[in-house]
Amino acid sequence: MALRNCNSCGRQTKDYVCLKCPNCGESEIVRCQSCRENLNPYVCGRCGNQGP
Ligand SMILES: [Zn+2]
Ligand SMILES: [Zn+2]
Repeated sequence: MALRNCNSCGRQTKDYVCLKCPNCGESEIVRCQSCRENLNPYVCGRCGNQGP
């Protein structure tokens, strides 16, 4: 598994999940395990949608 930068905290992580932005459906959002557990917010780079 490749390292990706977490969208929330910016750290490189192997324990990430990838999801499509629920608003625009085009941007891929990467979140690490700890940000998922802490419900840290993400920001879509394409449409600016924010969510936990
Ligand atoms: Zn993170
Ligand atoms: Zn979006």
